Amino acid sequence: MSGRAGGAAPGAAAAGGREHAAGAQPPRVGVLALQGDFERHGASLEALGVEVVRVALPRDLEGLAALVMPGGESTTMLRLMAANGLRAPLEAFVRERPVLGTCAGVILLGAEADGLPAPPLGALDVSVTRNAYGRQIDSFNAPLDCPVVGGSFPGVFIRAPRIVRVGPAVEVVARRPEGGAAPNEPVGVRSGRVVGLCFHPELTTDLRFHRWFLTEVAGLTLPSDAAIPLREAAA
Ligand code: GLN
Repeated sequence: MSGRAGGAAPGAAAAGGREHAAGAQPPRVGVLALQGDFERHGASLEALGVEVVRVALPRDLEGLAALVMPGGESTTMLRLMAANGLRAPLEAFVRERPVLGTCAGVILLGAEADGLPAPPLGALDVSVTRNAYGRQIDSFNAPLDCPVVGGSFPGVFIRAPRIVRVGPAVEVVARRPEGGAAPNEPVGVRSGRVVGLCFHPELTTDLRFHRWFLTEVAGLTLPSDAAIPLREAAA
């Protein structure tokens, strides 16, 4: 993962970009790196051949083709967002460009959630209940039904939020067949270029959700030699 872009020209090769073997620059994808498990998202994205940029300041958003908002603590992230001057730039980014939010990320992208120090960004018309399955010790794995990535997907839930309302224009892209509040409860949603997942694909070695987001949602072309399977060390 490269460091922050450091004010280099948007999209410029000088911004830490490497020449890809085929000669084309790989897309630059940001990972919000205020707090949480941004490293694991970075590893998944790098395995798909994109250049990863850590985003902690407004200038880091320049020239990004897409952004990932990781899991972590949504209250802390909202506070750090304000402290770093990222609130307004992120509001603008999520209105215009592709964004994937996982766990705390879906809380931040939603329309409303309980117990936050500031409103979420409102990019997804969903209402979310935080920590809906209990405490850290109540974290669990569950098989999910995700037709957009070809069917079953391993769901990793850590102090996960629950999506309790899905707006009419929002597509459900992941469901939990059993064990939720009701059969087939929604655990992943999409509205245009914005995707929110209650679970953590970056904590598995399965790259299908990241690939789907980059190619189908964000419309990016990945380097032809991607994806290299995630290293066992990152599993
Ligand atoms: N419980 C956290 C929150 O409310 C989210 C947990 C996670 O991202 N793994 O922000």
